[in-house]
Amino acid sequence: MADGSHGLYRAGMRETSVLIIGAGFGGIGAAIELRRQGFRDVQILEAAPELGGTWFFNTYPGAACDIPSHFYSYSYEQRKNWSRLCSTQPEILSYMHEVSAKYGLNELITTNCPVETCSWDEEAQQWTATATDGRTFTADVLILATGQLNRPAYPKIPGIETFQGDAFHSARWNHDLPLAGKRVAVIGSGASAVQFVPEVAKQAAHLAVFQRTGSWFMHRWNNPYSRPVRALPKLPGVQAFRRSFVFHFVEQITRSIKHPATAGRILKLRSIAFMRWQLRGAPELREQLWPDYTFGCKRILFTSHFLPALRRENVELVTDAITEIDATGVKTADGRHHDVDCLIYATGFQTTDMPAMEITGRDGTSLREVWRDGAHAHLGMTVPDFPSMFVMYGPNTNTSGGSIIFFIELQAAYIRQALQLMRSRGAGAIEVRREVEAASDRALQAQFNGSAWLRCDSWYRNESGRIVTNWPGYMADYRTATETLQPSDFELLPDRTAAETDLAAR
Ligand code: NAP
Repeated sequence: MADGSHGLYRAGMRETSVLIIGAGFGGIGAAIELRRQGFRDVQILEAAPELGGTWFFNTYPGAACDIPSHFYSYSYEQRKNWSRLCSTQPEILSYMHEVSAKYGLNELITTNCPVETCSWDEEAQQWTATATDGRTFTADVLILATGQLNRPAYPKIPGIETFQGDAFHSARWNHDLPLAGKRVAVIGSGASAVQFVPEVAKQAAHLAVFQRTGSWFMHRWNNPYSRPVRALPKLPGVQAFRRSFVFHFVEQITRSIKHPATAGRILKLRSIAFMRWQLRGAPELREQLWPDYTFGCKRILFTSHFLPALRRENVELVTDAITEIDATGVKTADGRHHDVDCLIYATGFQTTDMPAMEITGRDGTSLREVWRDGAHAHLGMTVPDFPSMFVMYGPNTNTSGGSIIFFIELQAAYIRQALQLMRSRGAGAIEVRREVEAASDRALQAQFNGSAWLRCDSWYRNESGRIVTNWPGYMADYRTATETLQPSDFELLPDRTAAETDLAAR
């Protein structure tokens, strides 16, 4: 068929409408997949004034992906002209805009529309999303594409509200505030901090980096490509080889996390050598920085600029615990007061208390309640009692090594298969079987046994210690699990609205 619907709908059948919450990589990827396969009635609601998700909000200096762009991009929209190995935030955001425009998504996106609640109407077999300003949106299918890293987490430090200087979170960078000549403090030393600390260090009069836990580092220079290197992917086969090389390389990071005593040792030795080299002649700093947990348990940080930045005259690494924040700065357990003009929270995101909004399924079941002891979903996407609802980048689909875009593409294709199944059988809704979800969750959690992920505390784990964010295997395993949807995993609910139409016609 000219519209690409491939005979998706039987005569008289109403078109399946789809509501996607979030216009980041997940929401955009889902919309492209569905529209390409004939699901034309797609709407995207986005809280921000612009598409982009995490790449719209994280504009801190030095923001860049840490998986090479040739792989951190949609497989069907590859670029041969990335300016460097790991592109910067403006380049990624403009890529997302280009892709959205090319696939005609811009007119489907309603921006400035933060959704507060989503509820399932069993009679109408539809979802209704309500925005904070009271606007409502209704559709047959709900796709939650709000991601895991979208709600900034602020530390619970006594006196935090009394600070009189400037303060902001790294994911809400205040670009109106010049940092030149200021006394700046950064709380946190994770993946975001290590990217912007080298930039802030160049401007601030004094920079104090408060580290609670050390990290394992690997090298990443990420300078702009020279002209010949930039031209390389234009040669036949180079682009495909490069993507495949990155895929297999990052799978080795996962291998090192899954097998800490073997593959993990090898990568750890590389990390040790790199850290020792960068910290040569600075034994005190090395001691302060050295991690005390198994390699790979927390995210491995790829940067060649952070450790040298800590060696600058105007930069201090503080490892004494923070006891209090007061009007003028930060107090630490050694009794010191650190005077601060500007405080930057690089304390990450609220990852373990999914979902980000109030979602109500069948009989008023609250998703927050179902996930009270830790979020779980079949393959990270479907939950019993929440018919025709799908989650992208949901529970246990984060990757410590791979590209999240690889996962997102698989999820978009899986959701598309679910909708095709629903339509081909004339069903009104589709729901994962309770026993299937429970069994797949048990199997998934068992796969963490023996891995580095279980050997420390991290943002991957909730208060009870359950890992709720990460996928326990390789990207290839997720592909195997999701490539072909198993119809027997799902219950197809009769189309109530069709029955009503039949009755009315009699
Ligand atoms: P993060 O990795 O969760 O780091 C938060 C930092 O804040 C940690 O150093 C943490 O210390 C510290 N912290 C938290 N609460 C604290 C408290 N109360 N007192 C003192 N320190 C505290 O957050 P992030 O750096 O924003 O990164 C989050 C994730 O986003 C990453 O893991 C990654 O997946 C993604 N990310 C990706 C990129 C990229 O691809 N380029 C860049 C940035 C972020 P502890 O370690 O002791 O908890």
